[in-house]
Amino acid sequence: MISFDFNSPVEELRFPLFDDKGIRVFIKRDDLIHPFISGNKWRKLKYLFLKAEVEEKKHLVTFGGAWSNHLLASACAAAKFGFKSTGIVRGENLQNEMLFLCRLFGMELHFVSRESYRDKPALFESLFSNAEDAFFIDEGGASPEAAKGCSELIDELDEVYDHIFCACATGTTAAGLINGITKHSFNSRIHGIPVLKDGGFIRQEINKYLISENGFELHTDYHFGGYAKTTPALLQFIQNFSQRTAVLIDPVYTGKMMYALFDLAAKDYFKRGDKILAVHTGGLFGLLGMRERFLL
Ligand SMILES: *Cc1c(COP(=O)(O)O)cnc(C)c1O
Repeated sequence: MISFDFNSPVEELRFPLFDDKGIRVFIKRDDLIHPFISGNKWRKLKYLFLKAEVEEKKHLVTFGGAWSNHLLASACAAAKFGFKSTGIVRGENLQNEMLFLCRLFGMELHFVSRESYRDKPALFESLFSNAEDAFFIDEGGASPEAAKGCSELIDELDEVYDHIFCACATGTTAAGLINGITKHSFNSRIHGIPVLKDGGFIRQEINKYLISENGFELHTDYHFGGYAKTTPALLQFIQNFSQRTAVLIDPVYTGKMMYALFDLAAKDYFKRGDKILAVHTGGLFGLLGMRERFLL
């Protein structure tokens, strides 16, 4: 029986900056949903697993880079719900902490060249055309089902926030949040922080998943050089934030999102009295691959 019910808690973040600016900032702790099926990945996988169950598919096939939170979440969810799983990994065969955990959960890994990785449906077709129970899940879980799962975060909120922030890679999570506020007719503004360079393209990606048109903001200047790129300022920020709040954030996703929120607050982007919610999209194991970048 597949059950994905879990309401993550909301906590207030107390910083002198927020008092100075007269704003209140809260964090939706999706990182607490599950240690491995973490954050938005839990929400994104929900309707994909339910669909696989309906179609009587028992073998999940999905895609990711060698540090993909999605691969780990898929491996663990497959184990939890009794599925076989295969992860197709971009690039040369290697070992790291993340892939080790994927294997522990029973995921079989196939490494493919960056070139053949580009066409995922073709890869799936060539490797699994004869496997009737194989179920395709795109990189990062990107799909209308995933956006639907993410929209349910909004159902869990007890109050209406003026602004809601999340990190964006495929944009599926942001799209789900926008659909959630559309559904509830909330007056909240969704803010996406693309974690990769030239993130403007995410606007089209988000629009693909919207149930009806709704405005949103993309802040494309907080990529810190590109996907998984960092700067000393970002790493220092993450260290300070984690020490003050006991909430871990990572340099690839939530660190950039939170940095943007603080930076915008410092620049008087918000109005006094505004209530802001930051979504902690989880995925903290990537931190282990970045240990050496921190000056600790
Ligand atoms: C995968 C991931 C994201 C990106 O979500 P999209 O729906 O692809 O935009 C954001 N934060 C974390 C922690 C993630 O693991």
